[in-house]
Amino acid sequence: MSKVPPEVVERVKKLREEIEYHNYRYYVLNSPVISDAEYDALMRELKELEEKYPELITPDSPTQRVGFKPAEAFKEVKHEEPMLSLDDAMNEEEVLEFDKRVKKFLNLPEEKEIEYTVEPKIDGLAVELVYENGVFTVGSTRGDGYTGEDVTNNLKTIPSIPLKLRRFTDDAPPIPPRIDVRGEVFMTKEEFKRLNEERILKGELPFANPRNAAAGSLRQLDPKVTAQRKLDIFCYGVGKVEGIRFKTQWEILQTLKKWGLKINPLARVVKNIKEAIEYHHYIESIRESLDYDIDGVVIKVNDLELWEKLGTKARSPRYAIAYKFQPTQATTQLVDVVFQVGRTGAITPVAVLKPVQIGGVTVERATLHNEDFIKNLDVRIGDWVLVQRAGDVIPQIVMPIKEKRTGKEKPIKFPTHCPICGTKLVKKEGEAIWRCPNPNCYASLVRKILHFASRNAMNIEGLGEKVARDLVSKGLVQNIADLFYLKTEDFMRLPGFAYKKAKNLFEAIQKSKKTTLARFLYALGIRHVGEAMAQLLAQKFKTLENLMKASTADLMSISGVGYEVAKSIVDFFKNEENQKLIKRMLEAGVTFIDEEKEEEKTLNGLTFVFTGTLKSMTRDQAKKLVLEKGGRVTNSVSKNVDYVVVGEKPGSKYQKAKALGLKIINEQEFLKLIGKV
Ligand SMILES: [Zn+2]
Repeated sequence: MSKVPPEVVERVKKLREEIEYHNYRYYVLNSPVISDAEYDALMRELKELEEKYPELITPDSPTQRVGFKPAEAFKEVKHEEPMLSLDDAMNEEEVLEFDKRVKKFLNLPEEKEIEYTVEPKIDGLAVELVYENGVFTVGSTRGDGYTGEDVTNNLKTIPSIPLKLRRFTDDAPPIPPRIDVRGEVFMTKEEFKRLNEERILKGELPFANPRNAAAGSLRQLDPKVTAQRKLDIFCYGVGKVEGIRFKTQWEILQTLKKWGLKINPLARVVKNIKEAIEYHHYIESIRESLDYDIDGVVIKVNDLELWEKLGTKARSPRYAIAYKFQPTQATTQLVDVVFQVGRTGAITPVAVLKPVQIGGVTVERATLHNEDFIKNLDVRIGDWVLVQRAGDVIPQIVMPIKEKRTGKEKPIKFPTHCPICGTKLVKKEGEAIWRCPNPNCYASLVRKILHFASRNAMNIEGLGEKVARDLVSKGLVQNIADLFYLKTEDFMRLPGFAYKKAKNLFEAIQKSKKTTLARFLYALGIRHVGEAMAQLLAQKFKTLENLMKASTADLMSISGVGYEVAKSIVDFFKNEENQKLIKRMLEAGVTFIDEEKEEEKTLNGLTFVFTGTLKSMTRDQAKKLVLEKGGRVTNSVSKNVDYVVVGEKPGSKYQKAKALGLKIINEQEFLKLIGKV
């Protein structure tokens, strides 16, 4: 029948086993043992064999994650065991109360200690994964707890969900004929930020939080869209189970892990409720440093025999509780909207709020992103609004509370002209952001001056925000080049300036004229040209003239420069106003010294990531040293990173770097590398 040579059948089997093992090392244990390239080679070989012998393809093959056609609609899936929701506890008393209730229900004395499992409560979307004889067959959303939606093909695109369970350790129990695994699908904060930036630029409505983003991504009719959003999962329990009996919740978690399912590495067993409360405080203290959103911790009785005795109430079990953190949302009133002009002329509407406490911080302003966002929300001045503070993201308005409207609310009018200089605003096709095209616009000018003078740019000491504003409002500076033509007497016209202070600022500006090309490029404030990019451009083009002559194609031939960046640079230097500006600065005596010759570029081409606190210097100083030596500094951990420098209390980047198998060095090793010891 089949013409497949037996050695190919054997090889395909071996490849799948190997790939699944490496998935397990990478996703479950966080410690891969092969490089991405080696992994890709295994996948490629398997794909090639399956293409040649399609009869070998099985639904659980690691190649079968993508390639499903969009669905018309989601089918319904009934959960064999209902997916209950948990009761919330908002404070310590309520958690102690829960512990008391458990003991009372079990007829245990109050001094008896109950053992609990604890783990972070992921702010994601609950799903159920059905494994039959170890093969992932059906995946569904929680829905109403009894019936959910069939999102199998979308779940298959999530790389941390195994398509086949295996016994990855010798002590793993045999794979049961059927097990329904429960987990929480989530989106990392980084991916959430990336996705929202992309959506805002396209004029689409940003997601309010990572949970909505995860839900929106999972409930896509086209699995290809889901595959592009980097979703992840933590498994936390089971539903219907056949052929195996667990004794404790901890055993469930550990067994799932041994079978290749990802569980939260912060999960623990604690001896009593007091320890559970301590765990809650600990997790709350590291909350911001995690790369996913959580909104509390889940506390579960560990002994499953007690679960049966405790049973469930209407829709929630008696053996578990969600101990929530302080809320990150609050309602308040939208008093006004102001339109900020940014350094690149971008107009951002900012909501002025009646001050409100959210998670221990007073929030008075929140972003409204852009015109489309305002229109879509239909938010008005005078509205009561739901405001949210999530992680390191700036506070934002989630929605207006329309039920509270009195009829006196006024629609927000987006300006057609720059609120500062009056120039007609422009909007690029395909973008959602209005910009003031006037390069001399007041607000953008103040920001431009501040950026120009900042420490990592021209480094002009004594030129802070107040001075910049005064210089502009007195008409002394109409563009950044004017700074180099100011005399000591000019500064003496500013409020608070006597001779000495004026002379100091004058001298600081003269001193700044001797700079490096990289600093100057960064100081110009070209869109998409940050410090690292400026450094790269200076290295590649050597002189300003060369760079000013470069075409989009020339720029794009440099690794790390994409079309958008290249176009932005070409457009900047093509602009006549900018050309004049640069000419005047050079005429005033701006010259470029070649730091490259003074300092050996020992770190040329190497990329660094920093995490944690360094003892001997600030992050900025360390960054500068790397740049000076020709290296690059980035914030995101990827396989393109050469060194991860780990200081005290490193964040999630450290874990990620370990998972990727990157070179990790401590402060001492870093100092050696840059020649400081
Ligand atoms: Zn303007």
